[in-house]
Amino acid sequence: MASKTPGQKRFRPATELIHGGSARSHFGETSEALFLTQGFVYADAEAAEARFKGDDPGFVYSRYANPTVAMFEERMCRLEGAEAGQAVASGMAAVSAALLSDLKAGDHVVSSRALFGSCDYVVTQILPRFGIASTLVDGRDLDQWRAAMRPETRALFLESPSNPTLELIDIAAVAEMARANDARLIVDNVFSTPIFQKPLALGAHSVVYSATKHIDGQGRCLGGIVLSSEEWIEKKLFPYLKHTGPSLSPFNAWVLLKALETLELRVTRQTQSAAKLAEMLAAHPAVTRIYYPGHDSHPQHALAKRQMTGGGNIISFDLAGGKSGAFDMLRALQVVKISNNLGDSKSLITHPATTTHQRLTDEERAVLGIGDGLVRLSVGLEDPDDIKEDFEQALARARAPNVTAVSA
Ligand SMILES: *Cc1c(COP(=O)(O)O)cnc(C)c1O
Repeated sequence: MASKTPGQKRFRPATELIHGGSARSHFGETSEALFLTQGFVYADAEAAEARFKGDDPGFVYSRYANPTVAMFEERMCRLEGAEAGQAVASGMAAVSAALLSDLKAGDHVVSSRALFGSCDYVVTQILPRFGIASTLVDGRDLDQWRAAMRPETRALFLESPSNPTLELIDIAAVAEMARANDARLIVDNVFSTPIFQKPLALGAHSVVYSATKHIDGQGRCLGGIVLSSEEWIEKKLFPYLKHTGPSLSPFNAWVLLKALETLELRVTRQTQSAAKLAEMLAAHPAVTRIYYPGHDSHPQHALAKRQMTGGGNIISFDLAGGKSGAFDMLRALQVVKISNNLGDSKSLITHPATTTHQRLTDEERAVLGIGDGLVRLSVGLEDPDDIKEDFEQALARARAPNVTAVSA
């Protein structure tokens, strides 16, 4: 829904994350209330009529809007600097709604190829069934975006940094191309978090989040949100969501709203730990390559500095020992847990080739740079020295096959 307090003074993010969007009940509670209700009662029939006509701006039904969900939306709008936002049940509900609410048969979508698995499925499998064609490009190469544009291109979609090889895309440049073609640029901003990258300020039309990740940050609830202009949300997204119903539960909205209070603290700390760990990994003999936008070995480090204010908490790296080296290391880790999730307070690591990207063929994985030795790490909130020591002891067991041969 649209920002409730458009004219109100904005504070710095850490402050907005504590107070932004709070709407107190007549009890004056300190902590935001959980309105676990489906519906709302009206004083009389006239009041109900006025509410439905839109003459009275109150709530009608929690599939449309709910006070706790509205607080979460308002806090996210203030963090993102967005005019309006609609929360939904998951990140994928946000991605699919951002596309399907606006596109129609005959339209065309251009998307970067390095995508979260389900985003790839929506773009390449679901949209075409409704007559919406799509072209995938190497998002780093602006010429490929330019070449893929058609007169009927209505949406551009990208993730930057991408999953799992943390490629970056020049958001401002792609946004300019979108505008020149009367198309919308939708940015999935999960990997950088709303703290370190502001796609709307860079010219994107919409930004989407899986709030499941850093926004909850404690592994509890699914959630998602789409943020954009007030006009687009009111005309396109809100009617689509209202009538198709992927609503965010008020309970989950409450968890996410409270989690926002510590978001900046959490991701700042995680990023400091990730930066330290990146230095250690880059120098380790069992590691052949690291992928981390905040490290100067990243081929797009200059772009990272230009459009991100922090490297984020996700690091991927290649092990010299390939799959067996990766599995040896995973087996030996004690603090870091094996999970395909990310953004959690717990450090989580996954082997993309056999989990998140198992569905792809060897050739498709090769195009995306997902080798057998690649692992993706989401750095958590544990003591950074414990994370580092955990990798030091686990990497000692991830011997490359040829190392064994030499010493034999
Ligand atoms: C997790 C994730 C999603 C999907 O979010 P869910 O909340 O799991 O539906 C979409 N995009 C990216 C980049 C993600 O990491």
